[in-house]
Amino acid sequence: MTMRPLQQLVRPNIWALHPYSSARDEYSGHEASVFLDANENPYNSPYNRYPDPLQKELKAQLAEIKGVKAGQIFLGNGSDEAIDLVYRVFCEPRQDNVVAIAPTYGMYKVCADINDVAYRSVLLDKDFKLNADKLLAAVDEHTKLIFLCTPNNPSGNCLDRNEVIRVIENFSGLVVVDEAYSDFSAQKPFREELKRYPNIIVLNTFSKAWGCAAIRLGMAFAREEIIALFNKVKYPYNVNLLTQTQAVEMLKRRYDVERWVNQLLRERSQVMVAFAELDICEKVYPTDANFFLAKVHGANDIYDYLVQKGIIVRNRSKVELCGDCLRITVGTPQENDRLLAVLRTYKKEER
Ligand SMILES: *Cc1c(COP(=O)(O)O)cnc(C)c1O
Repeated sequence: MTMRPLQQLVRPNIWALHPYSSARDEYSGHEASVFLDANENPYNSPYNRYPDPLQKELKAQLAEIKGVKAGQIFLGNGSDEAIDLVYRVFCEPRQDNVVAIAPTYGMYKVCADINDVAYRSVLLDKDFKLNADKLLAAVDEHTKLIFLCTPNNPSGNCLDRNEVIRVIENFSGLVVVDEAYSDFSAQKPFREELKRYPNIIVLNTFSKAWGCAAIRLGMAFAREEIIALFNKVKYPYNVNLLTQTQAVEMLKRRYDVERWVNQLLRERSQVMVAFAELDICEKVYPTDANFFLAKVHGANDIYDYLVQKGIIVRNRSKVELCGDCLRITVGTPQENDRLLAVLRTYKKEER
């Protein structure tokens, strides 16, 4: 099935929108050294100046590292900004709907609710497997977007690549593929498939493998026409100077990131083996991310016990298909050892 023309997918008001044109947008020469166009204070350099609205330096470097064109990159205040933007660009409130897997990352639903867009969730199969036919059965003529997350949060597993491709190929709207955890997985990233699949929007983030959750920097990769729509709707200066500067610094340290990822993957295997041997553990689910989901005997009590001991994990036991499950992030060896040691004493102290 081919993608509907972009104009049919975009909200009419957004298609027709004349975006705000900032001072820094209108000036694009090279030689200027006197800036009297933006009512800035001339003192307190460099923080007195508005940042680059399109983050050109950062995008040029990211384009090389990520293997895409600079014009195929959107940068936002976390991936969460990109998630909100796809609703605002494509989904007419109270008319359009989106389809998503369940369980998955909570922000897709929150942004749907905020934007008053119907959210149709389709349960993954046992062991959190994606069934493309089942997902596509929830699509109707008002479905603008499908949300997939791979590796998926909170289950940790990669979705089967062939099923993801079947979704992409059999949907005439846009498929958002959230690869926040792809740095930890061996799967081929979907951002490398933008040519083959013009209807995908791939999300990456600086918050996980890159160790930069504090700077709030998310990335979306899509064909240039889609990125142009994001640029039209976003706040003019949505990524501040401190974030842009720190991100450029981090890109120089990408070999540190590689080391962290390898260390975390080694540590992950060890923690999972040890966790599976605990009395409290019923099952550890396979994972391709920097966390794992574990089914335990009495998740709520164990969660409370860990909090008392100053250890915070994520209690996912109220999430569909995740009854009695805790989601555990892989920490430093010391942190992981502390978690395991405390859990080994759990039964004794309870009695
Ligand atoms: C952590 C996470 C993100 C990252 O969000 P940011 O706003 O970039 O910090 C995105 N998607 C998923 C599935 C996540 O788990």
